[in-house]
Amino acid sequence: MDIDLQKQITDALSLLARNATIKDCSHPNKSECRLPIKGAHSLQKNGVLKYLEKAEKGNAYIYCHYERKLRGADNFYDLKKIGRGDASTFFGFCDFHDTELFKSIENDPNSTDINNDEHCFLHSYRSFSHSYHRKYEELKLYNSKDAEVSKLLQNLYGPALKDKIKGIELAIHDFEKPKKKLDKLLLEKDYSGLDYLCFEFPHTIPVACASVVTPDEYYSGAKFNHSFSKVEDYSDIITTVLPLQNRSVVILSAFSDDERALKYLDEIENIKYNLEQEKFLSFHILVNSENVFLSPQYYNPKSEDWKRRYCSILDFNASDFTPFFSFNKKLPINYFDKSEKIIL
Ligand SMILES: [Zn+2]
Repeated sequence: MDIDLQKQITDALSLLARNATIKDCSHPNKSECRLPIKGAHSLQKNGVLKYLEKAEKGNAYIYCHYERKLRGADNFYDLKKIGRGDASTFFGFCDFHDTELFKSIENDPNSTDINNDEHCFLHSYRSFSHSYHRKYEELKLYNSKDAEVSKLLQNLYGPALKDKIKGIELAIHDFEKPKKKLDKLLLEKDYSGLDYLCFEFPHTIPVACASVVTPDEYYSGAKFNHSFSKVEDYSDIITTVLPLQNRSVVILSAFSDDERALKYLDEIENIKYNLEQEKFLSFHILVNSENVFLSPQYYNPKSEDWKRRYCSILDFNASDFTPFFSFNKKLPINYFDKSEKIIL
């Protein structure tokens, strides 16, 4: 399948996805739940996402990697302007848990301290919950009994639809073990059950992200997560990227008993040159992560050629039919460079 067709699929699916909403609280202690299940933000609406937005003729907007719009005149599938209110919401926590669980990082969005394990854990827990919830929504969508939806999926995938569903079921199966482990850590308040690799930058970066990532390669280029056997688990890197006021933080976390994931973090920590480390972190966000938001302040001034290349990397990644994209230190993208900082 070519990338053009894949774009149409992604577009159709993002429309369909809105009809596959699941409302269910992710917190393990269901007896405490207090309805309603709110539209919770995977990233703080009034902190993080507010810093990224740009106002134009009275309308403020941001970009998100998976919301795209075809620019008819020259057939370019560009990033689409979206409102901060619609961005990154998911119905994954009840009113009580959304408020109670996250109050230490949510009441003052700028208070996030990367040396505080509880803060790092809660951000990671929320990023994980978002990816976990989305996977179930994806399965609901692909298994839809709605005549129109299943006809569209049949047209798009044909006989490959069965394999697609099987792939999502496998991904969900792979999520269940880490979900149980995280819930146990949460209930026991054992915030050191995850290892954190954190970075802080002294300015507001133009990107935000909350996602579970299963990278294909280490920084060294060695293969990672390439086993497709059912008995071997995938290794997750929970990724949270937060632009704050006058500073920014990146929190990468992995289970302290997951040696392969810890090796991934170690390799990043040991990258000798700052510039290369920043580029690899940018690559990690751009290529591996979902639920990524971008500031128009960063994207709009770039050249037309740069934008096309940026979006073609996104297309390449979104496709189920393209090979993995390897890190190259010449990557012309560094979200962390001072020259890219957001002026608030
Ligand atoms: Zn709840």
